[in-house]
Amino acid sequence: MSGLEGYNALITGGGRGIGAAAGLALARAGAKVSLAARNEAQVVQMAAEIRSEGLEAFAFRCDVTDERQVRDLVLSARDAMGRVDILVNNAGTAASNPLSRVTLAEWRHIMDVNATGTFLCTKAVYDRMAERRWGRVVNIASVAGLEGGRYITAYTAAKHAVVGFTKALAEESRGKGVTVNAVCPGYVDTPLTDETIARIMHHTGKDRQGALDLLLAESGQSRLMRAHEVADAILALCREEAHGRNGEIVVLDGKEVP
Ligand code: NAD
Repeated sequence: MSGLEGYNALITGGGRGIGAAAGLALARAGAKVSLAARNEAQVVQMAAEIRSEGLEAFAFRCDVTDERQVRDLVLSARDAMGRVDILVNNAGTAASNPLSRVTLAEWRHIMDVNATGTFLCTKAVYDRMAERRWGRVVNIASVAGLEGGRYITAYTAAKHAVVGFTKALAEESRGKGVTVNAVCPGYVDTPLTDETIARIMHHTGKDRQGALDLLLAESGQSRLMRAHEVADAILALCREEAHGRNGEIVVLDGKEVP
C-alpha cells in the first residue's frame, strides 16, 4: 500500500516537466491518473510510460483556458476513472519582458493559462468533491506567487492570483472534506526553464552555463530543482492523512539550508 489506492487524479499540463513527474508519483502511489495538456502527443506518451510500469493512466487533450474543453475533459476523465478525487492544477506558461514590451495579448495569455485555467478546472470538479466530502486540489503556483522579480510582471500577477484563489477557496472549503493548497517552486529543471535560459542567452549573448548562472544568482538558488522534488510535495498534499492540511502555501524555493 502506498497511500492513494482507490483514488483518481486529474493533472493538467501532465505531458512534461512537473506535471509529468506528478502524474508518475501519484500513479506509483496507487492512484489512477488522467493527464491533460494542450499538447496531446506529450500526454499520450507520458500516459504510455506510466502504463508501462503496470499502472493506470489516461491521456486527454485540453486547453485549460477554454471552458467547454475543460468541461469535456472532466467528463472524459470521469468516464475513464469513475470520479475525480484529486485535481492538480499544474498547466502554466511564462514569459519575461520589461513592462514596456508586455503586450495586452501576452498579459491575457499568461493570466488565462495560469489563473483562469486554475479557476475553470477547479470549478469543474469542486461541487462533486464537496458532495462526496472528499477532495484534494493542489495548485502549482511559484515563488513568483509570493514575491516580485524583474521582467515577469504578468507571470507574477498570475501566480499571485493562483495563491489568492487557493487561500480563498480553502476558507470556503472548511468543513467540506475538500482541501485546497498551493505549491510554490523556485526554478525547476523543466522545458519551461529551458525556454527561460534560451531567452537569457538570446538577450545577453551568454552561453547556456552563463545564462543558467545568471538565473541562479537572481533567484538565490545553488542549483535547479528536479521535477520529482516538486512532485513529492504535491503527493504529500494528496494523501489521506493530509486531510488537515488546508490553505497551505508550500514553498520549495530551492535555496538550500546551510
Ligand atoms: P512545462 O512548460 O515544462 O510544462 C507545462 C505543461 O503545461 C505542458 O504539458 C503544456 O502542454 C501544458 N500547458 C501549457 N499551456 C496549456 C494550456 N493552455 N492548456 C493545457 N495545458 C497547457 O512547465 P513546468 O516547468 O513543468 O511548469 C509546470 C507548472 O509549474 C507551471 O504552472 C509553472 O508556472 C509552474 N512552475 C514552474 C517552475 C519552473 O522552474 N519550471 C517554477 C515555478 C512554478
